[in-house]
Amino acid sequence: IKKIGLFTSGGDAPGMNAAIRAVVRTAKYYNIEVVGIRRGYEGMINGELFPMDGKSVANIIQRGGTILKTARSEQFKTAEGRRLAYDQLIKHGIQGLVAIGGDGTFTGARIFGSEYDMPVVGLPGTIDNDLYGTDFTIGYDTAINTVIDAVDKIRDTAESHDRLFIVEVMGRDSGLIALRTGIASGAEAIIIPETNRDINALMDRLENGRKDKSSKIVMVAEGEDPGGAFEIGRQVKEKFPNYDTRVSILGHIQRGGKPSCMDRVLASRVGVAAVEALRDGHRNEMIGIVHNEIAFTPFEHACKHHVEINANFLKIVEILSI
Ligand code: ATP
Repeated sequence: IKKIGLFTSGGDAPGMNAAIRAVVRTAKYYNIEVVGIRRGYEGMINGELFPMDGKSVANIIQRGGTILKTARSEQFKTAEGRRLAYDQLIKHGIQGLVAIGGDGTFTGARIFGSEYDMPVVGLPGTIDNDLYGTDFTIGYDTAINTVIDAVDKIRDTAESHDRLFIVEVMGRDSGLIALRTGIASGAEAIIIPETNRDINALMDRLENGRKDKSSKIVMVAEGEDPGGAFEIGRQVKEKFPNYDTRVSILGHIQRGGKPSCMDRVLASRVGVAAVEALRDGHRNEMIGIVHNEIAFTPFEHACKHHVEINANFLKIVEILSI
């Protein structure tokens, strides 16, 4: 293999740049040319392709976001869009692709790979940690550290005013950010989609829990049902009017910032493995790390299986918030 294309797609995540750097440098090591593709599948269709060399990725390992930019592409969901993308790749002599993204990105890659003879390997780049086939995704560690940093600050004001804070974090379909950060910030209860956003544990804790606590934190994963943090806050206020209840939505700060050491190392490891995998003839697979070893998972399995939550985590919250 002599020339590969590289792109980031879907939501950005800290550590994507470290992965880009690793892919470009590894390709150089093996004398493979790299073509950067801007704005994911959208840029592929529009021909936003440019050559990258070892120097083009200097001084980015510590930067959040993605220097290749990212986008969502409706066009790529159509056969016509994918044909235009393929034509661009052929025009530039590309013989393989490295896709950095999440569930949607790999679904697109799987479909593309079944229609055209173009090897694609994927690197798990999403703050949600919701991919099967890797213990952690690139960006998750940084995001959860950003969350606990913010919640520690909220805790200071909650403690001073004797307040109950409902904190909403990202994870529309997956509560993994809420679950881990809930434990790390000493939350009273965690409300996540995997348990159907059951708020009984919270109500029970407020009803029967220790009354002399001055501050309380409740971690909620975003989502419509039963209506996110504001709706939960409304229900708590209605049932417990004596609590000074506030809602805080952390929002997009969770996506940004310098990647943590863990994310940089993860991105570097899977980035090196991606180029080696293409050289070895792998295709249609996500490259992750399971039990500290590089692991290959077909796109089909990486996306279809929703990662199960560790029920012990919820029990830990219950025990420790006593
Ligand atoms: P994150 O989990 O961080 O949001 P993601 O990769 O899941 O990242 P999506 O927006 O779901 O982000 O997907 C990225 C892109 O992948 C879409 O904009 C689209 O171009 C492509 N894609 C998603 N699903 C399909 C599909 N069924 N067919 C073709 N392309 C798809």
